[in-house]
This record gives sequence, C-alpha cells and structure tokens, in this order.
Amino acid sequence: MTLTAREVLPTPLDYAGLPRQELKDRILQRKAQRNAVILGHNYQRVEIQEVSDFLGDSLALSQEAADTDADTIVFCGVHFMAETAKVLSPSKTVLMPDPRAGCPMADFVTGQALRNLQEQHPDAVTVAYVNSSAEVKAHSDICCTSSNAVQVVETISRDRTIIFVPDRNLAHYVQERTGRDNIVAWDGYCYVHDDLVLEELDKARKAHPEALVVIHPEAREDLLAEADEVTSTGGMVRMAEDHDALILGTERGLVDQLRERYPEKTFVPLSGAAVCGNMKLNTLSKLAWCLDHGRHEVVLEEGIRSRAEESLRKMLAVSGGWQAPSEEEEKLELAGVRPKGCGCG
Ligand code: SF4
Repeated sequence: MTLTAREVLPTPLDYAGLPRQELKDRILQRKAQRNAVILGHNYQRVEIQEVSDFLGDSLALSQEAADTDADTIVFCGVHFMAETAKVLSPSKTVLMPDPRAGCPMADFVTGQALRNLQEQHPDAVTVAYVNSSAEVKAHSDICCTSSNAVQVVETISRDRTIIFVPDRNLAHYVQERTGRDNIVAWDGYCYVHDDLVLEELDKARKAHPEALVVIHPEAREDLLAEADEVTSTGGMVRMAEDHDALILGTERGLVDQLRERYPEKTFVPLSGAAVCGNMKLNTLSKLAWCLDHGRHEVVLEEGIRSRAEESLRKMLAVSGGWQAPSEEEEKLELAGVRPKGCGCG
C-alpha cells in the first residue's frame, strides 16, 4: 500500500501535536486502508480502548484477531502479547505502536535461562504462563493463563515435578489450590500486582464496605488470602456485569474501562498507584504513526513460532478453547492457507 508523503508525518512526536479527533480519524481511515484490526488490552489508556476493535486479555485478543480476515493486527499491549498474536496468526502482519513496551515479568526468564533450569530437573514438566516470550513458550511443554493455571496443572501427573515460569505468585497460588509440593517456581513477578499491599486493601474496604474485593492471582499470597474472589482480568469483567460495587486488585486501566462501561456502578482500584508504565507507553499518537508507517513489525523465527503454538494449543485443548483442526483445515494449513489462524475457536 502506498501512502502519500503529504498525508504521512515523519515521527510519533509530529503526531503528538495533532488534535485528538484528528488522530482518531486518521487511525480509523488507515485501519480501513490496511484492512487492520486494533487490539486493546484491558490495561490500555481509555483513548486507545475507544479506537480498539476488541478489548480483553492477551490470549482472548489474539484468538479473536486470528478469527478475522484482517491482513494486519495492531496490538496495543506489550511485546509478548504481540508475539502471541503472531504465533496464532502467522500469515498476518503484526504491528506494535511502541517496540519498547515490554513486560518486566516476562523478561525475568529467557529461553536459555529456562533450559539451564530444565537441565537441573530433566524429568520436570514445564508450564509457561502466557506472560512470557514466544521463545520461552517454545521451550515449555504447555502454557497456562491466570484463569486456567490450576486446571492445566491438574492435568499433570502428581508425581512429576513442575517448573512454573515466570510468575512466583501465580505459581504459589496454583500450589495452594492443587495441594502440590513439587512446583519449582521461577522468581519472577509483576511489579504492578506484587506492589499491592494490605494497608491499601484495608483502606479501600473501610471506604467501600459494600464492595466485594476481587484480586488478580499475580498479587502476593497475603493479599489473596484477604480477597473475596481471586480471578483473572477476564473474570473481573464478567463479575462487573453482576455486581454493583467491586474493589479491584489489578491494573488501573481495567478499572477505568469498567467505569466507562457502567457509570452507575462503583469500581474502586485497590491501589491508585497500580499502573503499568509499560502498557501506557502506547499512545494515540504512536498508534496513528504506527498505522501510517506500517511499523513496528513483530517477526518470529518459524521454529520458535510453531513450537510456541504447540504449547498454546495444548493449553487450549485442556481448557476446551481449541478444537483440533479438521482434515480439510489441515490440508489448507499445509498449503499455507490459514483462514482461521491456528484454528482457535
Ligand atoms: S501489568 Fe504486569 S504482567 Fe502486565 S504487562 Fe505490566 S508488568 Fe507485565
């Protein structure tokens, strides 16, 4: 696609000077020209969420994008999420508005560091939380999300050691819920959730005694012990439909999204400081620049991509979220035609 020089500005900084409505108009126009879909993670700024075609958590978004006939996916999230979109949609172009938007938790473990640990536990099964790089997923046996981690671990024979990467808090939560004592947890964490503290919880509870306390399993165990409910961001969105007041122990972006959606309800952040700076690197001006220039593209080496897809497919088979491809679909895949991405439902 050729875009004329008159229409395209050179740097994201040039776009930052444009009025918000013009940025939105440009984004929608270029999106149509590129046959693109914009994925907005739950933790994105409200203005990014407003121009997104799909909102949700990383895996659900990647699955939804794989199911479209778009040529381009723009992922407004962090790097491992855009990689997951590429894993599930290898024939689509995947773009990120800011390549510096990484996830410090995912960065705690590299493929090489994981292989070193696996050498120390040669019989262990490796479970990778989806908040990990494609390379780490490729070196793992199966993936999990925060909502199906317990279910995934329960499918693994109790006498097998499990290496769980990269979140120590989620690993601990799974250990508690499954009663296993053979989980080797990587010492990684999400600074946004790990920084939530009991004092803030007590304060929020006193101010809103009518609200249920819902906390993400990436938080520390002392916090989780005080929660009325422990659930993923997707679970929080579902709970918001049925409850009038919630105290939410997760990133602020989700709280802002729920307030927009249900202005008559009370949604309180457990901590006003629970903000992921990495997620907020994406802005409307960078998104407009990204669509105008077709950058920054996420590229994966095919061996890594296909092995990461295998680990994701195994997880989706366990959680009922993926149906094995039919014979016809397999033939199409072999011919290089992937009408439904990896076939995730
Ligand atoms: S909120 Fe935590 S897990 Fe999510 S991208 Fe930010 S640092 Fe990573």
